[in-house]
Amino acid sequence: STFVGASFGGIAELYAQIQKAIGATERVFELLDEHPEKINSHQNSTTIEKIQGNVTFKNVQFSYPSRTEIMVLKDVNFTAKFGQKIAIVGPSGAGKSTISSLLLRFYDIDAGEIIIDGKNIYDYDLENLRGNMSIVPQDVILFGGTIRENIAYGKPDATEEEILLAAKQANAFNFIEGFPEKFDTLVGERGIKLSGGQRQRIAIARALLKNPSILILDEATSSLDSESEKLVQEALEILMQGRTSIIIAHRLSTIRSADQILVLDNGIISEQGTHQELITLENGTYKNLSNLQFSNS
Ligand code: ATP
Repeated sequence: STFVGASFGGIAELYAQIQKAIGATERVFELLDEHPEKINSHQNSTTIEKIQGNVTFKNVQFSYPSRTEIMVLKDVNFTAKFGQKIAIVGPSGAGKSTISSLLLRFYDIDAGEIIIDGKNIYDYDLENLRGNMSIVPQDVILFGGTIRENIAYGKPDATEEEILLAAKQANAFNFIEGFPEKFDTLVGERGIKLSGGQRQRIAIARALLKNPSILILDEATSSLDSESEKLVQEALEILMQGRTSIIIAHRLSTIRSADQILVLDNGIISEQGTHQELITLENGTYKNLSNLQFSNS
């Protein structure tokens, strides 16, 4: 699972999440090691049960346990059908990242329901649920290890061929091959420093390999240089195909091509629809946002 670099919470919380995620993966493999016959009895050599990716938020209410006086989400309602691209927009602090944290089940909601494929999110086995999700955060943090290991983290039993294909589709192959050690290049604290766009493409390769039904994408606010931006964007287009994508959106092109835009404001979804629909709302928040924020993009 790919929780590295989540933008929510502090560093301590982030590391706790990484530790949890790594621990969970290790436990799965311990189990598989003990019962090798189980591997062969599963078509995909994995215990993860595939979900389809229909996501519904129904009257969702949420406050952070450490700040119960502020109700971040008051009454959030939306449905993302599998395969759809959902763009969440709204002012800073509106709760956009909070929605992704709730999907990843980092917190329990206070009221309402989050339903995935007709089943309450809290009724899923947590590893199974997260096994069906990938997050590509704004600022990707890679762990200390080789590029190969960082990509294969999305699917620890991946073949070399699968890793190369994922790197190619993610527009990462060429820059990786440009390093003397190629896929064995060490990254992270003691390795070479990759650019933000390169790290994002590694995260995209990892997600492609994992092949999740639900993709959570936190678009970068600060734009990369235009060449890198183009390569990342192309890779993301490939990654989003055939999955439900929940995007904390900052790019006008993403928002324009979304199946649904959710405008999050004051703890509720104040407007919901396509770009064409929302742009017609006189004095609408989206219309104003889109005039102000996106006039230069
Ligand atoms: P931005 O566009 O600036 O990233 P956002 O819409 O993603 O903002 P969130 O990060 O979801 O907003 O934050 C919503 C509210 O919850 C804010 O008031 C924020 O201060 C608060 N908040 C976020 N994370 C936590 C946390 N871990 N503990 C307590 N409060 C939090």
